[in-house]
Amino acid sequence: MKNRKIILNEEEIPTHWYNIVADMANKPLPPLHPGTREPIGPEALAPLFPMELIKQEVSAEKWIEIPEQVRDTYKIWRPTPMYRATALEAALDTPAKIYYKYEGVSPAGSHKPNTAVAQAYYNKQEGVKRITTETGAGQWGSALSFACNIFDIECEVYMVKISYHQKPYRKTLMNTWGAEVFASPTNRTEAGKKILAEDPDSPGSLGIAISEAIERAASDEHTKYALGSVLNHVLMHQTVIGQEAVKQMDKAGDLPDIVIAPFGGGSNFAGISFPFLRMNLEEGKNIRCIASEPSSCPKLTRGVFRYDFGDTVGMTPLLPMYTLGHNFVPAPIHAGGLRYHGAGVVVSQLLKDNLIEAVAHDQLECFEAGILFTKTEGIVPAPETTHAIATAIREANRCKEEGKAETILIHLCGHGYFDLKAYDDYLSGKLHKHEVTKEAIEASLAKLDTPIIE
Ligand SMILES: *Cc1c(COP(=O)(O)O)cnc(C)c1O
Repeated sequence: MKNRKIILNEEEIPTHWYNIVADMANKPLPPLHPGTREPIGPEALAPLFPMELIKQEVSAEKWIEIPEQVRDTYKIWRPTPMYRATALEAALDTPAKIYYKYEGVSPAGSHKPNTAVAQAYYNKQEGVKRITTETGAGQWGSALSFACNIFDIECEVYMVKISYHQKPYRKTLMNTWGAEVFASPTNRTEAGKKILAEDPDSPGSLGIAISEAIERAASDEHTKYALGSVLNHVLMHQTVIGQEAVKQMDKAGDLPDIVIAPFGGGSNFAGISFPFLRMNLEEGKNIRCIASEPSSCPKLTRGVFRYDFGDTVGMTPLLPMYTLGHNFVPAPIHAGGLRYHGAGVVVSQLLKDNLIEAVAHDQLECFEAGILFTKTEGIVPAPETTHAIATAIREANRCKEEGKAETILIHLCGHGYFDLKAYDDYLSGKLHKHEVTKEAIEASLAKLDTPIIE
């Protein structure tokens, strides 16, 4: 009888975050000032973030110690379980061994509290009174609301309008933890007013919501801003996931050939894959790490590697990343957390250097995968998460064709119990295949006047 569940003890919660930058031969290019377009130093970020997080953002130190209070808070849900997906394997009739690491056991239902708790902690240490942020599907807003509540900090969330209406209970969850939530674009900021003047019916986007949250933080000295993905420190905080997964795979007597995670800005992908990539970089292992993105927002598979803004209005530093252009407004698919135009700097450099892979899936293929997973393994995955399951099914089918018993690790980064409207739409036949056209990508990229990378 195979072990279905692989668990760790509290003492096995990692003591350090892993900073992959230390092991990269090609370091990421520097961020540029949005106005002068010259490289910026850490001090330029000081109005938005506490100093300790800025230090982590630019750090090349390999291991950064996790503060005791953060580690203690992690104990509420960490270590998270890993499972062998025996029922999914049987349904696919594949020789592949499939495992999944489940982050849906956190209070907010995803991996996001791993960084939210760390960020709230450092803000508290530096006397910050209020944190603003954006949220797409509501996962990040929930995580930050949960963390701010623990450290007694006010939390102000700009929620992408389409998700605000699709996921009313995410808003209620944030309110329950004490946060204020606004449907973005709003009339509370200059950035929001500008968008509404051009398009009063704008469904919003993460880029727009980021502009609003940053504007609020930049205009008040007691208010800082927190980002749930993309930045180096955020990706690094998530590496507790992969470090646990390395131990769990070891306990199972296995090593993955393939690690798969859904991709929005790169934080959950980084979280599960970087500790395995470390084994590639340091120990000569050859583990394939695959990022799964939606075909309606395919920055990794169809975007360009170029400097671009992180937000829509152009207030953030220019970052070297795979992007569809900061004006790109993705179709209103249910995987709200994946509707972002750009990819994190570190992950972008790794893709450029062919150290990781990327694939795209249409939403119907993803929901089919999500339903098969639910029926076999029992957990309803978040719509974002179904992308990784779709990739895993493709790989498991390839293993079947080739007669190979490869080991696949899926990052089950969140549950979908607040996303049942999405499943309802799928089950009642309301969802359609969607792939962004070549013309739409070209039109968005044509608007870019940001520096090109040779
Ligand atoms: C936020 C989120 C994502 C996308 O963001 P990443 O930074 O790429 O991880 C994916 N899945 C879930 C469940 C999320 O909450």
